[in-house]
Amino acid sequence: MPRIFIAAGSNLGDRRHHLETAFQNLCREPALKSAGCSPVYETKPAGGPPQGNFLNTVWLFETVWPPEKILAVLQEIERKLGRVRGEKNGPREIDLDLIAYDELCVERPGLHVPHERMHTRWFVLKPLCDLAPQWKHPELNKTAAELLAALEKDQTA
Ligand code: ADP
Ligand code: MG
Repeated sequence: MPRIFIAAGSNLGDRRHHLETAFQNLCREPALKSAGCSPVYETKPAGGPPQGNFLNTVWLFETVWPPEKILAVLQEIERKLGRVRGEKNGPREIDLDLIAYDELCVERPGLHVPHERMHTRWFVLKPLCDLAPQWKHPELNKTAAELLAALEKDQTA
């Protein structure tokens, strides 16, 4: 069954509660089978207005649903948890991104998989590596572990 990776982040209100509620909502979907959770990391906001730290995590699910259906489910949960789309990179109760769908490339209006900025974000790569260091980015042709090592090297250079 295809394996998908979902990145979740929250920096407004009861952050841990938002992550837990989003996870429970996903687990309730008949076609999503939970197969792993990374630790939760506290990270500084990247860009945008001054705002509080995020809690970030990545979840692994197995599913027969196509990528478009997964995105629709993620957006529905974001709405349910009260996310209002405001300023770009602004604070949010919950952000749910489809980071990867196996090692497939998907390019459609409003949906890019692997997520376009995933390889530049420590808060995505680190938890992804906890779950699947050998997962390979189909466009960059590098594993999650290689992408994380490159990013960490850049940041300490
Ligand atoms: P970000 O997650 O980059 O901080 P948003 O959550 O506001 O920003 O998402 C902006 C748009 O990104 C969404 O409307 C969605 O259609 C689009 N998008 C494209 N690819 C993906 C993906 N893989 N996962 C989630 N959203 C995606
Ligand atoms: Mg998002």
